[in-house]
Amino acid sequence: MRMLKDTETFPALFIGHGSPMNAIEDNEFSKGWNAMAKSFPKPEVILCISAHWETNGSFVTAMEHPRTIHDFGGFPKELFAVEYPAPGCPELADHIINTIKTTSVKPNLAWGIDHGCWSVVMKMYPDADIPVVQLSLNRDATIKSHYDLGEELISLRNKGILIIGSGNIVHNLRLIDWYNSNDGHEWAIKANEQLKQLIVNNDIDSLVDYQSLSKEVQLAIPTPDHYYPLLYILGVRKENEAISFFNDKCVYGSLSMTSIKIG
Ligand code: ZN
Repeated sequence: MRMLKDTETFPALFIGHGSPMNAIEDNEFSKGWNAMAKSFPKPEVILCISAHWETNGSFVTAMEHPRTIHDFGGFPKELFAVEYPAPGCPELADHIINTIKTTSVKPNLAWGIDHGCWSVVMKMYPDADIPVVQLSLNRDATIKSHYDLGEELISLRNKGILIIGSGNIVHNLRLIDWYNSNDGHEWAIKANEQLKQLIVNNDIDSLVDYQSLSKEVQLAIPTPDHYYPLLYILGVRKENEAISFFNDKCVYGSLSMTSIKIG
């Protein structure tokens, strides 16, 4: 049985995951994820909050051997063949269930590792030797409660756990321009910059009340699923802790790959 032990503070990451194809491509973004993983010690366990696992209520994966979930359509069969056989970590699931007080978190034995998680983590840790646990996004919760739940996870960063939020700050699939892989629409670039400024200023109130922000931000966040993982990562930031951006770029018109390192 794996015991969670005290460690130095691990960084926390928000990763803009973009297209699942990043999982099988060796491009500037996947290289950025790999370089980031190599810049700090190997974690004991990874806790991922993925845009692609929404539930009614909060759940944490608690199985010994999570399956690789191919939760997308219309991609090459090569992508469906990808397996990421990292073990689970029921001990971390138990620890989270006991640590979180603002809501009731329940164990889940049916999910696994979705592409929001594996498409990124397999580039960071290709050996799949670090256990992976996922925490779901409760679609019934208020916006603020996603940030609050993040705050309750802070102590995990001193237990050898790498917390990753996987989503996209700008994510509007209806306005995708598949012929423009290398740039963003003007509104997307503006929204990305506006949100980055609020992140740097640690203006959590504005970030939680994003529906009152500019029209560019409304286009960037038509649904909150890819935005919520960011709130968890801002929640696990300690006071005045360093924050930096990487893979900071808009692609396909309406996606930003902008990623964040806390610590
Ligand atoms: Zn996604």
